[in-house]
Amino acid sequence: MAKQEDVFKKVISHAKEYGFIFPSSEIYDGLSAVYDYGQNGAELKNNIKSYWWKAMTQLNENIVGIDSAILMHPTTWKASGHVDAFNDPLIDNKDSKKRFRADVLVEDYCAKIEEKAQKEIEKAAKRFGDAFDKAQFESTNPRVMEYREKQSIILNRLARSLENEDLADVKALIEELEIADPDTGSKNWTEVRQFNLMFGTKLGASADNAMDLYLRPETAQGIFVNFLNVQKTSRHKLPFGIAQIGKAFRNEIVARQFIFRMREFEQMEMQFFVAPGTELGFYEEWKQKRLNWHLALGLGADNYKFHDHEKLAHYANAAADIEFKFPFGFKELEGIHSRTDFDLTAHEKHSGRKLQYFDNERNENYVPYVVETSVGLDRLFLAIFSTALKDEVLEDGSERTVLSLPPALAPVKAAILPLMKKDGLGEYAEKIFNDLKYDFNLIYEEKDSIGKRYRRNDALGTPFCITVDHDSLTDHTVTLRDRDTMQQERVAVADLRSIIDEKTNMRTLLSKL
Ligand code: ATP
Repeated sequence: MAKQEDVFKKVISHAKEYGFIFPSSEIYDGLSAVYDYGQNGAELKNNIKSYWWKAMTQLNENIVGIDSAILMHPTTWKASGHVDAFNDPLIDNKDSKKRFRADVLVEDYCAKIEEKAQKEIEKAAKRFGDAFDKAQFESTNPRVMEYREKQSIILNRLARSLENEDLADVKALIEELEIADPDTGSKNWTEVRQFNLMFGTKLGASADNAMDLYLRPETAQGIFVNFLNVQKTSRHKLPFGIAQIGKAFRNEIVARQFIFRMREFEQMEMQFFVAPGTELGFYEEWKQKRLNWHLALGLGADNYKFHDHEKLAHYANAAADIEFKFPFGFKELEGIHSRTDFDLTAHEKHSGRKLQYFDNERNENYVPYVVETSVGLDRLFLAIFSTALKDEVLEDGSERTVLSLPPALAPVKAAILPLMKKDGLGEYAEKIFNDLKYDFNLIYEEKDSIGKRYRRNDALGTPFCITVDHDSLTDHTVTLRDRDTMQQERVAVADLRSIIDEKTNMRTLLSKL
C-alpha cells in the first residue's frame, strides 16, 4: 500500500478513536459522505470558526457577519444559475457499476503526468544542489516541458468541451487517453451525462400546494439577497464586506476522501462589495490576506500554493484557489473569486427590486462588484488535523503519537492531573480545575499512570499537562509539561492562568495577522 494511503488511514482512525469525527448514523452502517463531529471535533471546529470569524469581523472595521437561513426562495437558485448549470459530468463504468466524475478522471490522469514532471525536478534538484535554479530548469528541460505541454493540451480540451456542453467529446477524450476505472482497470464506459448537485425538498403540508425548494449549495446567495438590508442598517460605505459561516449541501457524485468532499458541509464565505473597476485590486489584496491567514497557523508555507484559473466561469473576471497539500496531494482548500456584478444583477432581474448603491463621491447609482473568499470549514479541519498528526520516535527509542495543533485551536487547553487521588492531591487538583475553568476548556483525569495520561493528552493535542504532587500541597507549585517539547518545569499555581493564556489565547494567533 502506498505510504500516502497509510497516512490517510491513520488520520481517519485517529479522528474516530479520539472523539473528533464519527461516520454519521454509524449504528445503521453510516451515510455516505456525511460525518458527525464528536466532543473534541466540535471544540476544534468551533475554534477554527472563531479564528476565521474574528479575523474577518473583528479585525476589519468594514466587515460584518450574518447568519442567513439554509432554505431560500427557489427563484434564488434560478437567478444564481444553480438550477440550470450547477451540474457535474458523470460517467459510469459498465463492468464495475461504479460512478465517476468524468472531469475528475481526466484531471487525475493529468495529475499523474505532473507527478512525473515533479520527479524530474526533484532528481535535478538533488544533482545540482545549491546551484539548482528551479524556474530555469522548468522552462528549459525538454522532458518537463513535454509533460507540461501534454497536460495543458488535455486540460484545455476538457475545459472547452465542458464549456460547450460537448459531453460526447469528454467521453472521446477519456477513451483516447485510455483512462480505466482506477479500481478494476475496465475501460467499458457509458456516455457522459450532466447531474445537478442540489438536494431538493418541499415546503408546506399538503401535496397540492407544496413548494419545491433546495437545500442551499453555497452560503453566498444568503449574503447577496441581504446586501441592501445589511448595507442600509450597518450604514457602511463601499468597500465593505459581509461574512457568514454556515451549512451547504451538495449531492456529490463521488464522495470519497473522508471530510474532503462531503454531501453536507460547512462554508466560511465573505463577499466584499466594491466599486466597479476597483475589483481586481481588491482581488489581489484578498488573495494575499487569505494566504497570510492560513500561514499564521504555522502548518508550513510549503503546504500551500495558488492555482490561478485560466478558464474562468462566465461570472468571474479573475479566480484562484489556495491549494493545500492534503495526505492525498495538493487540492483546493479555498477559492478567491472576482465575481463582477453577476449575482446582484441577476437577483435584480429575477426579483424586480433594485440592488444598487448610491456612491456619494461618484454621485451615481450602481450595482457593486464583488470579490469573494470561500473556504470549506471541513477541508480546513482536515488540513489542520492531518498536518498536526505525527508519530515521533523519542530519544529513548520509545514512540509517541502527538497532535501538534496550533494551541489556540486545541480542543482542550490543559489537563489537570493529580499524581494520585489520595492524600488530598485530588482535592487540590480539583481546586485548580475550578479556578481555571472560567477561562479555559480543561480536562481532569486521575485514572492510569501519569505517563499514560501524558500520551493520551499528546494524542488529543492538549498543549499543557499540569501535574499535582505532594510538594504542591505545601509549596503551591505544580509540574507543567509542554506537549511539543515535552519539557517539564515547576511553576507557581498562581502563574498558571497567565502562562496558559499567553500560549493558547486566540489573540496570540490573531496578532500574527
Ligand atoms: P471542488 O472543485 O473541490 O468541488 P468547488 O470549486 O466546487 O470545489 P466552491 O464552490 O468554490 O468549491 O466552494 C468553496 C469551498 O467550499 C471549497 O474551496 C471547499 O473548501 C468547500 N467545498 C466545496 N464542496 C465541498 C464538499 N463537497 N465537501 C466539503 N467542502 C467542500
